[in-house]
Amino acid sequence: MHIRRTSSVARLRLSSSGDGPLSPMLQAARRPKLEKLWDLVDEYLHNDTESIMRSMADHFEYTLARNKWNLAPQSLFQAAAYSLRDRMIEWWNDTQEYFYDQDSKRAYYMSIEFLMGRTLTNALISTGLLSPYYEALKEFGENLETIADLEHDAGLGSGGLGRLAACFLDSLATLNYPAWGYGIRYKYGQFKQNIVRGYQVETPDFWLESGNPWEIPRQDIVYKVGMYGSVQYVTRSDGSLAVKWEPGHCVGAVAYDTPIPGFNTKNTLSLRLWSSKPLVDMNPEELKADPWDMLRQNQADEEITSVLYPKADSDSGKELRLKQQYFFSCATLQDIIRRFKKSNRPFAEFPDKVAIQLNDTHPTVSVPELMRILVDEESLPWDQAWAITTKTFGFTNHTVLPEALEKWSVPMFAHLLPRHMQIVFEINHRFLEEVKVKFDCSPEVISRLSIIEESNPQQIRMANLAIVGSHTVNGVARIHSEILQQSVFADWHRLWPGKIINITNGVTPRRWLYCCNPTLSSAVTKQLGGNAWVTDLSLLKDLRSHITQEFLRDVREANKVAKERLRKYVSKLTNGAVDLDTSSLFDTQVKRIHEYKRQLMNILGVIHRYQCLKALTPTERSQQVKRTHIFAGKAAASYQQAKAVIKLINTVADVVNSDPQTKDFLTVVFLPNYSVSLAELIVPATDLSEHISTAGTEASGTSNMKFAMNAGLIIGTLDGANVEIVEACGQENHFIFGATAPEVDKLRAERQSVAIDQRLYNVLISIERGDFGASSNYRWLIDPLWQGNDYYCVAHDFPLYLEAQQCVDADWRTPDVWAHKTVLTMFGMGTFSSDHSIHQYARNIWNIKPARMPTEHITTV
Ligand SMILES: *Cc1c(COP(=O)(O)O)cnc(C)c1O
Repeated sequence: MHIRRTSSVARLRLSSSGDGPLSPMLQAARRPKLEKLWDLVDEYLHNDTESIMRSMADHFEYTLARNKWNLAPQSLFQAAAYSLRDRMIEWWNDTQEYFYDQDSKRAYYMSIEFLMGRTLTNALISTGLLSPYYEALKEFGENLETIADLEHDAGLGSGGLGRLAACFLDSLATLNYPAWGYGIRYKYGQFKQNIVRGYQVETPDFWLESGNPWEIPRQDIVYKVGMYGSVQYVTRSDGSLAVKWEPGHCVGAVAYDTPIPGFNTKNTLSLRLWSSKPLVDMNPEELKADPWDMLRQNQADEEITSVLYPKADSDSGKELRLKQQYFFSCATLQDIIRRFKKSNRPFAEFPDKVAIQLNDTHPTVSVPELMRILVDEESLPWDQAWAITTKTFGFTNHTVLPEALEKWSVPMFAHLLPRHMQIVFEINHRFLEEVKVKFDCSPEVISRLSIIEESNPQQIRMANLAIVGSHTVNGVARIHSEILQQSVFADWHRLWPGKIINITNGVTPRRWLYCCNPTLSSAVTKQLGGNAWVTDLSLLKDLRSHITQEFLRDVREANKVAKERLRKYVSKLTNGAVDLDTSSLFDTQVKRIHEYKRQLMNILGVIHRYQCLKALTPTERSQQVKRTHIFAGKAAASYQQAKAVIKLINTVADVVNSDPQTKDFLTVVFLPNYSVSLAELIVPATDLSEHISTAGTEASGTSNMKFAMNAGLIIGTLDGANVEIVEACGQENHFIFGATAPEVDKLRAERQSVAIDQRLYNVLISIERGDFGASSNYRWLIDPLWQGNDYYCVAHDFPLYLEAQQCVDADWRTPDVWAHKTVLTMFGMGTFSSDHSIHQYARNIWNIKPARMPTEHITTV
């Protein structure tokens, strides 16, 4: 039997009292002919094992049209996913209705990337349905873990920025905030990385190959997105002049929704991703043209949301990227405004109901787009429209690398978005006038602040546009925000003190501890007498002062279990060729391959270790710390230096792993195709993780948090969130080395050429000699070091890095010392939960409050 929804939501649906506008749902509910339908909708599905088995069988047969003769391996996963989605949809509908009813202010998180990874296990744990599903699958003779492994990662992002967006959604849902995520539904995620003879080879990641059971296509939610065309001037009935953009071409944006369940709450949010489609009847003149031209145009329209980061090495590639950004911004704003208009409020109240966060500059074209809508379509005066716009947007900066600050050429932008170009010029003009009046500054300062860079051709600086168009700008770790204030955006900080703030990133302890490390999680739950810590990680700090022997044992046990799991994975991957020694120290560096992250320094250090081992006698060798060095990460397809690093790591692995003198003491592995699910496997199995970026270059880093939360120690520089992590966990528990950010600035300013350390010299010579294959492969890496052209300070920090690694070895030799450090680290991580970050965004930027559905009347089995 079904259970009736008796929540306030259900009661509200049928209530006849109350003033104010009725929701369409309520109106519909009153229509007598639908009464019976609502009665049925008001019943929840059952969650006992039997009912879940029934649901899965139904989806297996009716949704997937499978039978016992055509059982694809994926289909059990899909049946499980669809049946879970059904249950999430119930809560999701309740949530949306509740928010609507509460008329809550909502936060909209706009991000060009969402690196979600897999959903099944996480959603089961959030909804509390893990055990009935486990049982249901067991009844079918299957294992939940095996089934969960069949899910394809949703890899709609390239690294930390996209993963942050995913962690934030999890926290928003868990903390009951009224929020939405908005992004792009790429057909192809980040490329799949294969390693062929040591080289990275990219193949497309067609993640939708066997369908995506989590998403709900909303074929009825389609917005028109214009582009190109011209700007017209029309006279309004009152005689005033209005500007009207006549796009030359229109495409459709179709919504695809994914429910985002909160942990231990019914609050279920939406991630709405846009997919492009042709709008044939919107472009009538094209209908008349050659049908083949039209087909080609249709294809081009569909391609807008095909790939994440189209190649930007050509003008058409750059235009496609800008098109994606506008497409995404335009559809999102139409959706937000449609929702806002349902409440019949004047636009002046828009910022009281809507907060929009720009995750980096990619969605920044939303600023002129909102101005265009308010001024051209809603006929608001410019000043009022501008006040609304700047009260609505917040902007998160993610990088201090100058080459990563986005710019668009003015002619290209003006061609694609002629009206927006005018608006950007107008915003800039008014802004610079204001600056000149309020702030006595030199022409140099004015030209730095300008949204337009006076190059040839002129460029639009998207970060400047985002700063001018937002009320708050935040950096993502304390040191990063300080660098923004003191150097990258120093002029702005003087102009508007207080506008640039810090909110340090975080990671969700649900995915990154509770789900990926069940053994360690159970130990924490046992210590704390409950699992409240999963939604309040600050509880960990209470454990810091009385660490028990029992817990130390549990941590070691959890580490062993995780290492064994990784060992099996690697053995399978390499067809048994690599069998990791789980008693060795697992030293890990997994992240995007980039010069500033200095995987090069790590692998040079490994070569040094190899040389040292070779120089020892067998007896001496047997006394060395056994080590396994794990690498993973993708290099951008056109990034020569990064690709050379991958080749070097793989070649060193080949040499070292097959050298009979050293293979028992040193193993090197490069795990291909780094992804969220691979990270979930590696993080709990790691003893030491490397976060060794040149100080002042890594905005925050988030994998440092994942490792430390899982009781791993850090070898790292004083960069990004490392600074705060070691402050919270005790610097003495970690291995901090290297030039500090001011020292790096000094080294660079003085162009000091650093003498090459003898050990580094020996390593470089060995590479030159061809010990690791043709040295021509590594010219990109080695020549700059010989030439003293060492922007990322590898030569300077190398000896300090080796010293830090020696300290690691020393501590590892005394297991008690090591274990204590790991536990102190884990218990210090309370503030690095993304929950903590999200509370700060809610309070300090968005001004939103949690809206928790009253659920006391809802009974589920
Ligand atoms: C956390 C994470 C990142 C970010 O790693 P950093 O070391 O902070 O750069 C990148 N990719 C994946 C898959 C992740 O899970």
